[in-house]
Amino acid sequence: MSQELIERWDSYLNKLRDRFYEVLDSAEGPMQEIIDGVQYDTIVIINILNGLKYQTVTQLSAKADEGWSKMRLEILKVNANSLLKEQEPKRGIFQQWIQDEFERYEIKSYARTARKILENVKAHIDEKKLHRCTQCGAELPINVYSFMAINLKCESCGSVNTYQPDDRVRALEYYVIEPLANEYAMEEKIKGKTDKAAMKEYYKKYYGYLMENVPDKKEFYQRTMDERLNNPFFSMY
Ligand SMILES: [Zn+2]
Repeated sequence: MSQELIERWDSYLNKLRDRFYEVLDSAEGPMQEIIDGVQYDTIVIINILNGLKYQTVTQLSAKADEGWSKMRLEILKVNANSLLKEQEPKRGIFQQWIQDEFERYEIKSYARTARKILENVKAHIDEKKLHRCTQCGAELPINVYSFMAINLKCESCGSVNTYQPDDRVRALEYYVIEPLANEYAMEEKIKGKTDKAAMKEYYKKYYGYLMENVPDKKEFYQRTMDERLNNPFFSMY
């Protein structure tokens, strides 16, 4: 009798897991259309992600609660009280699972969008304009994706050029590089919610990616990373 109850409870939770993937699969068409239409920011995908989160994390977690209430009554009915303590944790495990799995989906969706934005920026960037001295046209030692304004003396003619990154290049940092860094450090980020050592690994990987891909701001990222890693939170028990 109790074996039958356990099986019903497991299969109920498995159906909720299947439902999660069904919802995301059916959203794939609209999601791809939205990403295809993106220009230089990821703002439009926030709405679709919020809607999907409600349909999955919120609604299916509530279903797990409902399912457990019913299961609990059935267990009490057959006087199998020892099952209560044994079976209830499956609800929390499911709810944690769906949160983590949705976070992966979110991170990947932002990264997919980021790659599309990068493609758009590359298609519109005038590499010559960014690289050449305004006076003599000599090449300047500026990375195409420099994110900060700088004054640079031209080695050929000596004139000082002020380099201002294109607004679209500036947008790359927030809408492209950071989402890609999050994708790169995704597993550490998720594990880091409940594990301090993993959270430290996340900061190292995330800022490491930024330092490597945005050499202009290496010192800034290094400082930010050190501040985070030295947070007293990490030495507390
Ligand atoms: Zn020059």
